[in-house]
Amino acid sequence: MPLSPPAATIRTQVSMPLRFTDGYATIARVFSFDGLVDGQENLAFGLGDRATAVTPVGRDSVPLVRPHSECLTGDVFGSQRCDCGPQLREAVQRIADAGGYLLYLRQEGRGIGLYAKLDAYALQDGGLDTYEANLALGHREDERSYLVAAQMLRTLGVAEIALLSNNPDKARQLRRLGVAVSSLVPTGVHLSPANARYLRTKAQKGAHTLDVPLSAG
Ligand SMILES: [Zn+2]
Repeated sequence: MPLSPPAATIRTQVSMPLRFTDGYATIARVFSFDGLVDGQENLAFGLGDRATAVTPVGRDSVPLVRPHSECLTGDVFGSQRCDCGPQLREAVQRIADAGGYLLYLRQEGRGIGLYAKLDAYALQDGGLDTYEANLALGHREDERSYLVAAQMLRTLGVAEIALLSNNPDKARQLRRLGVAVSSLVPTGVHLSPANARYLRTKAQKGAHTLDVPLSAG
């Protein structure tokens, strides 16, 4: 029996031209909300045919949706310790092409926070993997929740999505929250020497559907 997330409302929606460092440009409609249960300033970016005001009339097409958890170091500074920056860049373009929403969730470092993520990196440099490091710091392996993602989708009038993700846990959580996930659309693998170990751990321990060469890095 799916749980129904509490109702939220759209606070503000504005048009925002985006331009990435590699020159890719598109237009987004950025939504903020009142009533999101985590109290964070989460955002939804409507892209492609969803870069327009939300209308009360439903649409026929199923939007492509990616919940992206904030990663200050990867998203903004291009940290090579993870693949968040390239994942975000790929997602924006693919969603703009297909029409849909990028949900930017303010749960840094798998939900443990920015400072704790750096603490975990220090432990990883001592030999632990990303999951072991989180556990050593007293956190669960992955504390991310997609409840506010479900809230935002409901507020935007979206009941069914194509989910852009390699993470089956996102699909499970969203379905439990009443979002119909009609398909799981895989993202590319963004491998670099610095993140190869991290991606292998994600594939092995997080059951991500990633095809990472085990000999790399
Ligand atoms: Zn990251």
